Parts: sequence; structure tokens; C-alpha cells
Amino acid sequence: VQIADFIRNIPDFPKPGIQFKDITPLLKSPDALRETVRLLAEPYRKNKVELVVGIESRGFIFGAPLAQTLGVGFVPIRKPGKLPYQTLSETYALEYGTDEIQIHTDAIQKGQPVALVDDLLATGGTMAAACALIGRLGGDIRGVSFLIELAFLEGRKRFSDQEVHSLITY
Ligand code: AMP
Repeated sequence: VQIADFIRNIPDFPKPGIQFKDITPLLKSPDALRETVRLLAEPYRKNKVELVVGIESRGFIFGAPLAQTLGVGFVPIRKPGKLPYQTLSETYALEYGTDEIQIHTDAIQKGQPVALVDDLLATGGTMAAACALIGRLGGDIRGVSFLIELAFLEGRKRFSDQEVHSLITY
């Protein structure tokens, strides 16, 4: 299967000028979903990690099966107010206003090798904030992985000291 064939473009969603990458056709196809998780896992066959960290909410869809495939556990990074135990927070800039993400303070041990995953790399603001959270916990980021990269937004530049993996580039 060619997983790119299962990404649907939705023009002007959620607002004019944005072309939304709709992954629901890919999720609905058992072959495309399995192939996606297989490809996401490839860099970590040799570059081993002990945890996969996924970013709410589409990072969860790929993060949990990726963790299972690699035989490791899964850690969620969530929107504010969702995680019940003690948390660390990072605020980051959006086009208009700010957003925030949180992680549990006991989610990662110092020096623990981890992979981060989200569905799509746009400006990189979300993943950069996630990397900052992992950094504050002393985690060792072995790679940041995406299904889709919007290369024209140059989000990759924010991760100069990280390995950035993406399966489909636009
Ligand atoms: P950014 O922080 O700018 O890299 O944005 C990444 C987040 O926004 C990801 O979690 C994506 O799910 C979402 N996102 C941004 N742009 C798009 C797009 N064109 N299509 C679908 N999702 C997007």
C-alpha cells in the first residue's frame, strides 16, 4: 500500500487558506494503518527507545500502536486540565494567541531514551513544546516522528539537534 493515497486534502478547513490533511481514510484502512505504524517504527529498530510519547490527540492514535510494535510503553502529553497527577506545563505561540500542553512529572526517568510522535509537522510549535517538557524531565530524545510533514513551513528547522522522521512530505 502507498499510505499517501489514504490522505485526503480538505481545502479551507478549519479556516480559509488552510488545506487540512485528513487522516481518517488511512485510519479506516487496516492495511494502510498497519503499514504506517510499521514505517514509523523503522528508525527505532536500531536506535532503541524505552518509551513512546504521543501528543494529544492524533499523536495518541499512532503512538500507542507504535509503542506496542516496539515492545515499549506509552506516555501521553495532553491539553491542560486532563492529566490527574502532578504535571509540568509548556505554553507555546499559535498564529493567534497561545496554547499549552502538559505531562505527568513522573512520566519519564532522567536519561531515559524516548521517541516522540504526532500526526503532522506544520510550524513545529507543538512538537518543540513537547521536546521542552521531555527536556525538563531529563529524557533523552532519540527522535521526533510524524506521519506528515508540511515542508514549506520549515518546522524541521526547529529540531536542529534532533533526528526528525516523516513518512509523507508535502
Ligand atoms: P504545528 O505546531 O504548527 O507544527 O502544528 C501541528 C499540529 O497542528 C498537529 O498536531 C496537527 O495535527 C495540526 N495541524 C496543523 N496544520 C495542519 C493541517 N494542514 N492539517 C491537519 N492538521 C494540521
